[in-house]
Amino acid sequence: MVETSNLSYTYDNSEALVFPDISLIPGEHMLVIGPSGVGKTTLLYLMAGLLPTLKGTVAIDGTELNTLSRKEIDKFRGEHIGLIFQQYHFIKSLNVSDNLRLRQSFPKNINDTKRRYELAERLGLTQHFEKKVNALSHGQQQRLGIALGLIHKPKIIFADEPTSNLDDSNCTKVIDLLKEEAKICKSSLLIITHDQRVKSHFKNQVVL
Ligand code: ADP
Ligand code: ADP
Repeated sequence: MVETSNLSYTYDNSEALVFPDISLIPGEHMLVIGPSGVGKTTLLYLMAGLLPTLKGTVAIDGTELNTLSRKEIDKFRGEHIGLIFQQYHFIKSLNVSDNLRLRQSFPKNINDTKRRYELAERLGLTQHFEKKVNALSHGQQQRLGIALGLIHKPKIIFADEPTSNLDDSNCTKVIDLLKEEAKICKSSLLIITHDQRVKSHFKNQVVL
């Protein structure tokens, strides 16, 4: 369970960004939708412990993130949180398979070949498995970014604009895949986006 309370954040010389309270229940899907610049990415970074909570609290399973050390937060995130970022975080000189393998190896030294193949298969990446990231198209890189966020079967999935550069058909595919993975891994899923198309895929739990 991820819960925020009275959360706000202020960047240097800017107005405070004030967030609604959010409770993300295990196994639940939630969509946070709003125009760009309102603070969606900031909210997700706070919930994932990538930014320090200056005001208010973020608690995961009852533990407030600001009571943990940097190291403890990194370890927890590495094990239990899957982040799908807008900017990709992979090593371009390595191939797809090794990028996935590397992500599996931290913080627990897991080497699950079956999981790598299965996920790559579902994301249409198997035929690119041995290709260096440099050699992948934009769309393939986006799918690898999604795979990296899911490879360790995280119990919480945070996805930041996962559909931003996709056409309608791929938008639907990516949302379906995220929901399906969340179901398989019994994870909670939080998607933040300005993409109005995503709304029709979520009946409840839309935070505007
Ligand atoms: P969204 O994801 O909804 O587009 P962001 O969380 O990225 O919104 O940004 C919210 C506001 O905070 C914007 O006005 C943005 O310019 C500002 N902001 C984001 N990151 C920084 C930063 N590192 N330093 C200063 N201001 C920032
Ligand atoms: P570094 O700056 O040392 O190269 P990274 O940016 O790769 O570190 O990762 C920083 C932290 O974010 C680590 O705790 C790492 O496990 C975590 N991390 C990186 N990518 C993801 C992801 N897709 N999902 C969850 N956690 C991630």
